[in-house]
Amino acid sequence: MTDQRKSTHAQPKSLSILGSTGSVGCSTLDLVGRQPEQFTIRALTANSNVEQLAAQAKAHSAELAVVADDSSYDALKAALSGTGIRAAAGVEGLAEAAALQSDMVMAAIVGAAGLTPTLIAAERGADVALANKECLVCSGDILLDAMKRGGGALLPVDSEHNAIFQVFDFEKPEGIEKIILTASGGPFRAASLAEMKQMTPKQAVAHPNWSMGAKISVDSATMMNKGLELIEAFHLFPVTGDQIEIVVHPQSVIHSMVGYVDGSVLAQLGSPDMRTPIAYALAWPERMNAPVPRLDFSVVTSLTFEQPDTVRFPALRLAREALNAGGGVPTVLNAANEVGVAHFLKSKIGFLDISAIVEECMQRIGETKVDSIETIKELDATARRVAETLAAECVAA
Ligand code: NAD
Ligand code: MG
Repeated sequence: MTDQRKSTHAQPKSLSILGSTGSVGCSTLDLVGRQPEQFTIRALTANSNVEQLAAQAKAHSAELAVVADDSSYDALKAALSGTGIRAAAGVEGLAEAAALQSDMVMAAIVGAAGLTPTLIAAERGADVALANKECLVCSGDILLDAMKRGGGALLPVDSEHNAIFQVFDFEKPEGIEKIILTASGGPFRAASLAEMKQMTPKQAVAHPNWSMGAKISVDSATMMNKGLELIEAFHLFPVTGDQIEIVVHPQSVIHSMVGYVDGSVLAQLGSPDMRTPIAYALAWPERMNAPVPRLDFSVVTSLTFEQPDTVRFPALRLAREALNAGGGVPTVLNAANEVGVAHFLKSKIGFLDISAIVEECMQRIGETKVDSIETIKELDATARRVAETLAAECVAA
C-alpha cells in the first residue's frame, strides 16, 4: 500500500457503513452525527437488529438500509415505511449497499462475512476504511489487488495499523527497520493456563481497556487478535513478516510504533477510544475533531512493556506460522478461529479449546494454494467444516 495524501473529495463526503450497528459502526455514526455537515450517509447494514438499523437510517437520512438476515426483510421494510429509505436484505442487499456510489465505505462487519461487500467497494474505487481485519487475513492479496484496480485509498481503522499508518514514512520505506505492534495482553494477560482453562465468555469479553464487539474481545483474550493483526500489518505495509514485532503494553496508550534504521522510534499515542482512528480514516487526508478523552500526562505516569508469551497464548505462534506458510493457511487460521470463538461464546467449548481447534485444523488441512476469491471461499468453507467437527469432539470429550 502506498500513502496517497491527496485531497480527492469535495465536502461533504458520502459514506456507507457495512456493519453500522456494531461497536465500530456505532462509533462511526457518533462522529458523523457530531459533524453532520461534513458527511452524507448512503447505505447502512446490519446482521439482524432491524430496530437499531432502522433508527440509525432515519436519524442519518440514509438512502438504503440492509439487513443481512433475509427473514428480517419484511420487518425492516415496515420499520422504514413512509420514510423514503429503501430496504434490502441478504447477500444481494449487502452487495447493493457496497456497490451504491459513495466516496468512502467503512468496512465494519465482523469476520469473513464482510469479505464480498468489502471487495465490491474496493473494485468500484471507493476509499475503504478497513476495520474488518478478517478480510485482509483471509484474502489479503485479493483485496489489495481489488483496491489497486479500483484506485481508492485503503485506510486502516484498527488502532495499531492506524497508528503505524500515521508514522510510517511511505516516501522512504528503505529507512524503516521494523514495525512494532503493541498489544494490551487482554483480560488474561497475567492468568495461568490452569486459570484460563476455566474462564467463561463473560470474563473473556471484559477487556481491561477497550470496549468492543464480542468476537474481537475473545480474540483479545486469546491474543489471536494480535495474531490476526500481525497478518493484517504484513498486507498493509511494505515490510516482511520478520520486520513485525509484537510487544505487550498493558496501558494501551502507545497504539503502535515504527522503528527506523537510525535507531529512531516513532509512536502514535492516544486514549483507548476507537473514535480517534475512525476519525482519522473518515477525515483523511484532513483531520477532524473527535470527542475522546485527551491523554493527561499527570495521570499517565508509567508505560510498561513485556514480551508476549506464546506458550500461554499459542494463537500468537499459530498466526506467525500461518503468515510464514502463506497461501491458504491464514484463511484456515481465520475460519477455524471464527468457529472456535462462536462455540466458546455459546459456552459449548472451553477457552483453551479455541486455539487448540485452530492448531488442529491448520494441521489437518495443511498448506494450500489460493489464487481467486472462489478458492478462498471454498477453503474457508472447508476449514469451517473441519473446525465444526473438532468443536463437536470437544463437546463430546
Ligand atoms: P460487532 O460485533 O460489535 O459488530 C459487527 C457488525 O457486523 C454489526 O453491525 C453486525 O450486525 C454485523 N454483522 C455480524 N455478522 C454479520 C454477518 N454474518 N453478515 C452481515 N453483517 C454482520 O463488531 P465490532 O467490534 O464493531 O468489530 C467489527 C470489525 O472491526 C471486526 O472485524 C473487528 O475485528 C474490527 N475491529 C473492531 C474494533 C473495536 O474496537 N470494536 C477495533 C479494531 C478492529
Ligand atoms: Mg487492534
